[in-house]
Amino acid sequence: MRLPVKLSLLLAAATCFPLLLATAFTLPRGREALRSQLDEIYAQDARALAAEVHRSLVDKLDSLTLAASTLRLNELDPEAREQALLLIYKETRGADIVGLFDARADAVGNIIRFPRLQGVLASEHEAIDDAALSSYAGKVPLQGALQAGLAIGPVYVVPDVRGRPIPRLVLAVAVPGTRNTRWVVAVEISLRRLAESFERFRPGETGAAFLLDGENKIILHPDRQLMLKQASMRDHPLVKGGQNSEWLGANEPVPLLGWRVIVQESADEALGPLRHLARDAYLWLALGLLVAVLLGFSSVRTVTAPVQKLREAALAVTAGALETHVDVRRRDELGELADAFNTMTRGLREREALKATLALSETLELKQVLERLLDSLARAVPFQEASILVETRDAMDVVVSRGARGKDESHRLVPNSVHVERAITTLQPAVNDGRQMMALPLIRRGVMIGVVCLESNRPYTEADVRLAQSLTQPAAMAVENARLFDEVQRLATLDGLTSTYNRRHFMDLAQLQYDNARRFGHPLTAMMLDVDHFKRINDRHGHHVGDQVLRALAERCRGALRSVDVLGRYGGEEFAIVLPGTTQHNAATVLAERIRKRVADEPIKTDDGAVKVTVSVGVAELDAEMRGPEDLLKRADAALYEAKQAGRNRVVEDAVA
Ligand code: GH3
Ligand code: MG
Ligand code: MG
Repeated sequence: MRLPVKLSLLLAAATCFPLLLATAFTLPRGREALRSQLDEIYAQDARALAAEVHRSLVDKLDSLTLAASTLRLNELDPEAREQALLLIYKETRGADIVGLFDARADAVGNIIRFPRLQGVLASEHEAIDDAALSSYAGKVPLQGALQAGLAIGPVYVVPDVRGRPIPRLVLAVAVPGTRNTRWVVAVEISLRRLAESFERFRPGETGAAFLLDGENKIILHPDRQLMLKQASMRDHPLVKGGQNSEWLGANEPVPLLGWRVIVQESADEALGPLRHLARDAYLWLALGLLVAVLLGFSSVRTVTAPVQKLREAALAVTAGALETHVDVRRRDELGELADAFNTMTRGLREREALKATLALSETLELKQVLERLLDSLARAVPFQEASILVETRDAMDVVVSRGARGKDESHRLVPNSVHVERAITTLQPAVNDGRQMMALPLIRRGVMIGVVCLESNRPYTEADVRLAQSLTQPAAMAVENARLFDEVQRLATLDGLTSTYNRRHFMDLAQLQYDNARRFGHPLTAMMLDVDHFKRINDRHGHHVGDQVLRALAERCRGALRSVDVLGRYGGEEFAIVLPGTTQHNAATVLAERIRKRVADEPIKTDDGAVKVTVSVGVAELDAEMRGPEDLLKRADAALYEAKQAGRNRVVEDAVA
């Protein structure tokens, strides 16, 4: 798992776990507390409803008893009795039918069905039809009233004109009748008012209150069908009692009547707010978790992103890209780490450059130095063509080149390119328009000493140019050293005035030729050439003109010789020549004569006009007795001496040969 993910999850867990625990423990306890509080409220409601049921029935029974006992019905004539019964009807609010029965359940006088009253009372009386009347007759608790003085009949339900079921019952009170008999006043009353009270009572959206009789059959219930059927509620959890999770509520007995008031509300609905609360809590928790994860992720990213950069840079450096730079601009530990990294790569770069310089310095041979420079460039930047020009005494020369173009073609093309000229004049790396060629000046102590030209088939980037320049620059010192060495080398072997070999180097080469001739049995000839009366030339024209004569002579000799022949300045105005594979008799003397004649025939042009010069030449050939080149040269010198003695301006062969 990546670090940001790991740390953000950790952060999220640390933030949200305590909250989650708190929520998980608190919510069920809150649920229990709410439940018991609601149960308590419902119990109070049920008690209040039970008290109302009790009061309303007992009130009616009281007023009926009072009216019946005061009115002395047995002493009234039928007409007055009917008026008294009307009074009872009015007193007993809710009464609809009033009847008077004897002990055999025969009606005494008419059973009175009163017309509906007007005004306030109207709402308390039901309209009575024949069906209601016959129901009434069957429900009079005659025996109960005769035995106990008063009785409440069974509840029965009759729908009103609008089809609404109205529970009714008959209250019966015993009163004295004629001739020691007892009559019973039976008043039918409706529980419409109570029904309205129960209907109005609504705990919550779906809660309800209902009233059951002693056998748990419905008296009042919001469901009209159940009410009409007087269905049994025996199996309702709140009636049975005990724990139940479906309903909250209470079950309260109505005093004296043996009825029960049930108040109920579905637990789902009652505890709904708490559930919403829980859902909200978990939702917020989830949101908090998400925020914690995101925050954690983004804050950890601010740490890991630079670390990632450093890692990539480290890998790049490992792969050799020492120019890698980490760009982390921060003022914290990571910023310091990046700085330290950049310092380290800078150190590595310098060390690498130093190594390259040292590698280049190991050799003092200019060509080798430049070849090595091209090797190290080839490892860093791509190129198909490469040439390095080095400033010599009089021109920029292509010293090394690579690619199909070849040295001569490079020499023709490269120095004249615009970007090369720009690099030389500005002392800065330059590329051509297509960026496929670059020129990198070699600068030593502020002076241009050469230029490296690379050409690729794909454009160079700025980084390519920087890298190539960083590799080229350290080579400048090595190039200059090699150049100086070349110069020293040249000075060590050549004579400064005539550019022929100096005496020491000439003798080394003569020894080489002597050894070869001895080994392979080839012939070897030597010549000694001396200017005649050179002192006079100096005296007459000056030392400067004498120098010019010596230079011209050397040039004429060189022009007559083959490349294998070795020409050296042996003394002040004396030259020695070794001619490998040449015998004195055929080639050497002819050659000597040709040189002598050319010198004598063609005056040398000098600053002081044409000067007539002659030379004397002695020629000798290697023979069996000679022990080294010195012996051969001695013999040639002896021949030269003879030439001088014989009058100068001539060639003399060694007599022995
Ligand atoms: P000879 O015909 O006998 O050889 O006569 P010479 O005058 O050539 O002989 P000599 O050896 O007496 O003189 C050689 C002179 O060459 C002496 C010296 O001043 C002069 N000389 C030697 N080296 C140089 C040089 O490098 N430049 C010039 N201008 N003169 C030189
Ligand atoms: Mg001389
Ligand atoms: Mg001389």
